[in-house]
Amino acid sequence: MSSAFAPHHMPCAECGASLAMDERADHVCDPERRLEYRLLQLRDEVDGFEDGLCGYLDSPQGRFAQWLAERDRHRPKG
Ligand SMILES: [Zn+2]
Repeated sequence: MSSAFAPHHMPCAECGASLAMDERADHVCDPERRLEYRLLQLRDEVDGFEDGLCGYLDSPQGRFAQWLAERDRHRPKG
């Protein structure tokens, strides 16, 4: 049984467009789409960073770093 469904669709790494294997060679990214895709990735990274930062500040290491920063701020230079 043959099927028209192509299982080898891959998202373009640049713009996220879903491409069949035989489309990939000819594919040219739409600059707008590529920009949107990149922004989406950046937003994910930023979200992840904020989560990581909150977790860090709550951790013993994070508290220690804050304590160090606080101590250094009050310590006279020299
Ligand atoms: Zn593309």
